[in-house]
Amino acid sequence: MSLTPDEQRTVAEHLRSRSQSPQCPVCEASNMVVMEEVTLHPIDQEEDSSLPVANVMCKYCGYMLQFSLSAVGIPVD
Ligand SMILES: [Zn+2]
Repeated sequence: MSLTPDEQRTVAEHLRSRSQSPQCPVCEASNMVVMEEVTLHPIDQEEDSSLPVANVMCKYCGYMLQFSLSAVGIPVD
């Protein structure tokens, strides 16, 4: 699963609406990029269920943040 350019924009707009200037918690740079690749974050291995999350990476130091797609408002199957 991956994000379309429109969905990447939706994630970026969500971040801007929640944080004036989304910043890296490690290096405090503000050049965070929404990656195309989606990660399935395992939440219950016995039931084999997972939560799709968007990956947001700091272009300066490489730190990764993850955001639930459903919380951001992107429909998931
Ligand atoms: Zn950083």
